[in-house]
Amino acid sequence: QKWSQCGLTRPILDTIDKLGYEKPTPIQMQALPVIMSGRDVIGVAKTGSGKTMAFLLPMLRHIKDQDPVSGDDGPIALIMTPTRELCTQIYSDLVPFTKVLKLRAVAAYGGNAIKDQIAELKRGAEIIVATPGRMIDLLAANSGRVTNLKRATYLVLDEADRMFDMGFEPQVMKIFNNVRPDRQTILFSATMPRIIDALTKKVLRDPVEITV
Ligand code: AMP
Repeated sequence: QKWSQCGLTRPILDTIDKLGYEKPTPIQMQALPVIMSGRDVIGVAKTGSGKTMAFLLPMLRHIKDQDPVSGDDGPIALIMTPTRELCTQIYSDLVPFTKVLKLRAVAAYGGNAIKDQIAELKRGAEIIVATPGRMIDLLAANSGRVTNLKRATYLVLDEADRMFDMGFEPQVMKIFNNVRPDRQTILFSATMPRIIDALTKKVLRDPVEITV
């Protein structure tokens, strides 16, 4: 299969080409059409499989498909990750695309100054890549005037098993409960323990499961 068969727009294809990704990986081949059809997805895939692009590329199209909205609104897409390292990794994978598409993304993780992240968010961002604790702090900051999840319609939970191992379940559930039910939800996990299986039933709607 080729990138040109994946339903991506020309600027995205050109960026993929510049990055040197010759063809989609197996998880990308399977997940891209399903996610782009609007379905919720459970992806069982490890780091190294290309899972990040599998949820980022459809996200870019999802955002572009929304009605134009003022820049000071909350994010359209929220990606939750367990660690600061993963957060910055996903953010840097995004940068070549956000540049070309003129979108704004913010990486929000604990352990560095929240006020810098607040300042960035105040300028508006279509995408937030966040660790759950910091996301909750940002939602509460300045009595909720910094950001909100009112227009969030694309939600990703990455490395869900690690998220739970690290004890983030309450924060993750709190965030999910603040996002409108007519969203699209994507969950990636390297393993599928029973606790994640139970979570998927709570937060995903009729998901398609993809395993590589
Ligand atoms: P991930 O599994 O998302 O952590 O991705 C692992 C690595 O593969 C990252 O460094 C990506 O930049 C790279 N990558 C993602 N998609 C492709 C692709 N289709 N072809 C080659 N490399 C890729």
